[in-house]
Amino acid sequence: MKQIEHWVDGKSTAGSGTRTGPVFNPATGEQTGVVVFAAAEDVDAAVRSATAAFEQWSQTSLAARTKILFEFRRLVADHMDELARIICEEHGKVLADARGEVQRGLEVVELACGIPTLLKGDYSDQVSTGVDAFSFRQPLGVVAGITPFNFPVMVPMWMHPIAIACGNAFILKPSERDPSASQMVARLWQEAGLPDGVFTVINGDREAVDALLDHPGIAAISFVGSTPVARYVHARATAAGKRVQALGGAKNHAVVLPDVDPGYAAEHVAAAAFGSAGERCMAISVAVAVGDGQVVDAITEEARKIRVGPGWEPESQMGPVITAAAKERITGLVNRGVEQGARLLVDGRSHVVPGYEKGFFLGPTVLDEVTPAMDVYREEIFGPVLSVVRVGTIDEAIRLVNANPYGNGAAIFTSSGAAARRFQREVTAGMIGINVPIPTPMAYYSFGGWKDSLFGERHVHGPEGVAFYTRLKAVTSRWPQVEAAQQASFHFPTAT
Ligand code: NAD
Repeated sequence: MKQIEHWVDGKSTAGSGTRTGPVFNPATGEQTGVVVFAAAEDVDAAVRSATAAFEQWSQTSLAARTKILFEFRRLVADHMDELARIICEEHGKVLADARGEVQRGLEVVELACGIPTLLKGDYSDQVSTGVDAFSFRQPLGVVAGITPFNFPVMVPMWMHPIAIACGNAFILKPSERDPSASQMVARLWQEAGLPDGVFTVINGDREAVDALLDHPGIAAISFVGSTPVARYVHARATAAGKRVQALGGAKNHAVVLPDVDPGYAAEHVAAAAFGSAGERCMAISVAVAVGDGQVVDAITEEARKIRVGPGWEPESQMGPVITAAAKERITGLVNRGVEQGARLLVDGRSHVVPGYEKGFFLGPTVLDEVTPAMDVYREEIFGPVLSVVRVGTIDEAIRLVNANPYGNGAAIFTSSGAAARRFQREVTAGMIGINVPIPTPMAYYSFGGWKDSLFGERHVHGPEGVAFYTRLKAVTSRWPQVEAAQQASFHFPTAT
């Protein structure tokens, strides 16, 4: 059985922690590895290595940094299939989707390749006689990223390419449930020429996270995961004086108006609800059927057609969920939904994939007549379960979306420009889709939610990512000319 270790100072190390966690192939249900958990001393050793590396790296020219980024980009592209295979076997998503994940991560690397442009400052000539003013951005130091299981390559790549391009040293604490991909990414950074210590991987659970949040040598924390942990991470790390962006969970609604082709909307809503077994922070988990609700029959039909199986089988459209515990939790929530009065249109609770009876599989589930009081509506299920809420008007639909405590994404399906425009302006969510069910912004925009889906001010990647990983400095400068040297003045220089 393989052992997954930390990556510190350019090499794999088991560290001094005594605890480990199991890693599974969720499609077979078999344990495939153990991941070592870091103790506080291991985090300390990682911060020391990263601090030493930062001294050099932050002084490395933009030209030299860019060269390494371009090489890293080439290596990730060359190893896309291997990375996708690792994701497929540890996370469970289907191979095509895993490739898509690496591709979306790669796009952030490509953005980071443009770091000389992204870091260009402002300059104002002659703000006062003989005085110029300018501003530029400098790296923070050692920064850390704590990431969830559902995108083991892409979510870390929302962070480290930009943090490193900006001149920081980066410590990644990936999910303990699918940690192997991060080892490969570390090796690719090294092969690309990144100096040892600039990219570090520390595995573990809460003990490692707490050590990162409290460590005085870490300047900033990027977190992506569930809302309770995001809230905790934000509170604890800000109390320790760090800059923090903590992205949390979601309950994304797709509002379907009766003016749209129900077949078209159903196809998109079903793919967004059940793709990656619903384990996406941008998955559609609530369909809001406005008016006649014709779309509900079409969604039911689509859900029944989905082919469930191991991710490496080309015909599979949906893989297993991440663990046996996740399967049990999701099944329990569906049971509660039925008890609380939801109508089960498609029941995926006891779905079995022949030959993979021990895998953590569920089939798609569709629950109709769900109300905001039910647990299936209030809780983030993070599995292949779609709740349908029926409402009479778009006003009711917008009120429903806005009353939800989460605010990651929201989508509308309509043929009315006026309805779509109203939705994009009035809905309190960070990312809006118009006839697009999963409106994940491109790398050169920033990704993030509102309300309980984000704690902290900055979204990830794009311009907000660069701002998060840097500090702004403003300089006012005067170079007295020998022949016309000015006398020292106690007045603010711009006053003259
Ligand atoms: P999680 O919150 O359980 O874990 C995320 C990270 O926090 C992991 O590295 C984990 O080791 C660590 N962690 C877990 N419990 C902790 C604790 N008590 N104290 C300190 N650290 C802890 O999330 P997950 O189950 O891995 O991922 C799924 C969640 O992530 C869902 O809620 C999903 O919506 C969310 N997510 C959000 C986004 C977004 O962009 N908003 C993106 C992806 C996933």
